[in-house]
Amino acid sequence: MIVMKFGGSSVANAERIRYVSDLVKAELPRKPVLVLSAMGDTTDYLLEAAERALKDAIISMDKIEELHLKTIKELGLTAPVAEEIRPLLGELRDLLVGISLIKELTGRTKDYLVSFGERLSVRIVAAYLRTIGLHARALDSWDAGFLSDSNFTSAELLPDSWSLIPQTLTPLIEGGTLPVVTGFIARDRDGNITTLGRGGSDLSATSIAAACGAEEAQVWKDVDGILTADPRLVEQAFPVEAVTYDEAAELAYFGAQVLHPRTMQPCSRTGTPVLVKNSYNPGAPGTRITAALDKKTGPVQAITSRKNVTLVDIVSSRMLGQYGFLEEVFSAFAKYRISVDMVATSEVSISLTLDAAHDLECLKKDLSRIAAVKIKTGKAIVTLVGDVGRSSGILAQSFGACADLGIPVQMVSQGASKVNISFIVNDTQAAEVVRALHRIFFEENTQSGKEKP
Ligand code: ASP
Ligand code: MG
Repeated sequence: MIVMKFGGSSVANAERIRYVSDLVKAELPRKPVLVLSAMGDTTDYLLEAAERALKDAIISMDKIEELHLKTIKELGLTAPVAEEIRPLLGELRDLLVGISLIKELTGRTKDYLVSFGERLSVRIVAAYLRTIGLHARALDSWDAGFLSDSNFTSAELLPDSWSLIPQTLTPLIEGGTLPVVTGFIARDRDGNITTLGRGGSDLSATSIAAACGAEEAQVWKDVDGILTADPRLVEQAFPVEAVTYDEAAELAYFGAQVLHPRTMQPCSRTGTPVLVKNSYNPGAPGTRITAALDKKTGPVQAITSRKNVTLVDIVSSRMLGQYGFLEEVFSAFAKYRISVDMVATSEVSISLTLDAAHDLECLKKDLSRIAAVKIKTGKAIVTLVGDVGRSSGILAQSFGACADLGIPVQMVSQGASKVNISFIVNDTQAAEVVRALHRIFFEENTQSGKEKP
């Protein structure tokens, strides 16, 4: 079997649903399981509706209702489908009223709220697939074995899901059913609806693929795969043919917006290939993600940048040769549950980066007992993902480019075995640096983009 996951823009309206249904039909001999996101921007609409209910006690779900009812109509779906959809819309309205009355929107309520997007989309698409002769059945993920912890808004699947998913899906597939499963959502042991975090339906798809031993997980997007750089920054960016799970995870984490960063985890455990394809351009080969690459590539596979990063410089106020300094520093970060991204150390100082979203006052106070702390905001991480074995050349060329631009590199970090070389520049300079690096590693037809003899 295979898994085919379609994101919001791939099922955004009746036309797109018809189009991807043909893609599915063509893959029928490979026994697909479909995983769907909410239609278009429905998740955002739902969150907006909740904000309005909360702040202004206004119940407004016109956009959501319109999109789904119009799609049903345009797909020529009949009354029974509308009868399946209306109760969900009614339940959603009740929930919005509830939010407006209790004036509270907890993580738990938010997850329940956004779940309507995926629950609506699978029902509509499955109904349409039946009208074109496929034996499709819509499933809420909890009816397909998804069981998560109760960490609302970014839940993790519990290990039981590994056996529950194939137990429910395999008999269906073998019986000739085409399961159409909600991405993104799950349920905890108490029956509360949870979500796997924004963009989490990628992870739903790879979880099914890995747990069921699929031949591959196809993740259908609206871009031609993982690109060498963000096309909004670099016009010349082009799709990368193949990357490893590790490379894809680093790219996702450090700013490439194609995949949810945790997407690769299940499939890297089982070695199941993940294929990123474009539903607006299905003829394009896409990007293949596997454990190892069979072809030799240039030193750099892709470049990303992440803005809004805070750099923290911590200089020990104690003597040289003290031990336990790093431990104390990291315990402080653990205490405030702040995740650190990049780290560089010397004997007496440590620099690290984190997302700007944290309030660092308490942390700074704690650390000030053992160190001088400087917090610098407005930074960006530029990440080169590729062969760290060739890092000397990569660093030489990258620093050369920054020097030519007159842009100081403020921190560097490179893991020992992994695939990521990152450095910090000012937010405002990131785009320029990415463009210069893209030129060096991907555009100039010199030796730099290739192996030096
Ligand atoms: N619909 C959810 C979101 O927009 C999940 C997803 O699309 O993967 O974040
Ligand atoms: Mg979406």
